Amino acid sequence: MSDIIEKITCAYSIAPRVREYLSDKLKRPSIMTRLEQLKREAEASRELMKTLGVTDICADCARTTDGSGCCSKAIENWYDIPTIILNIFLNVDIPNGNFKRFSKRNTCIFLTDTGCSLLIRYDFCVNYLCDKITFSLLNKEIKRLKRQYGRELYIAWELEQEIWRYLNTHLWKGHLLQGHSLQ
Ligand code: SF4
Ligand code: SF4
Repeated sequence: MSDIIEKITCAYSIAPRVREYLSDKLKRPSIMTRLEQLKREAEASRELMKTLGVTDICADCARTTDGSGCCSKAIENWYDIPTIILNIFLNVDIPNGNFKRFSKRNTCIFLTDTGCSLLIRYDFCVNYLCDKITFSLLNKEIKRLKRQYGRELYIAWELEQEIWRYLNTHLWKGHLLQGHSLQ
């Protein structure tokens, strides 16, 4: 089983316990609000990418390069459990259970015909703008995108730290990746 499939399987398995921990309003009153804010900022980034034409350029690139663009198979393994859990919390439809169809692909497991299936992404995936994109945008548009990405990434980072805190305190990482039925 590949690294990313292990992480996705594990993330689905432990997400309910992490949610319970984060929803404990007495201990962490602001966390669920932050999750809502993260959703709004990530959607705002998506919207801005659409408005500026970035989404179309990337979707076309994904269709035609078979993984030689920036959505190659190598990137999927940079993802870690907290980022996957944030996507699960926000009901993102990510691959789960039927992984065979991905085994022969050269592209990232999260890539679909219409672009990336994740809402919450690793900072490289959010921030990277290749020459094709930068040549198509005005400087002020690039700055606008970067400001929006920054807002999204900051909240994602805060929440990922919270999830890591839970994982480091309650679960042993070796167990996390080997057995998915922890108490
Ligand atoms: S950022 Fe560039 S290389 Fe990456 S998917 Fe978009 S167009 Fe392709
Ligand atoms: S997570 Fe999304 S943006 Fe990042 S490499 Fe995979 S498909 Fe591309």
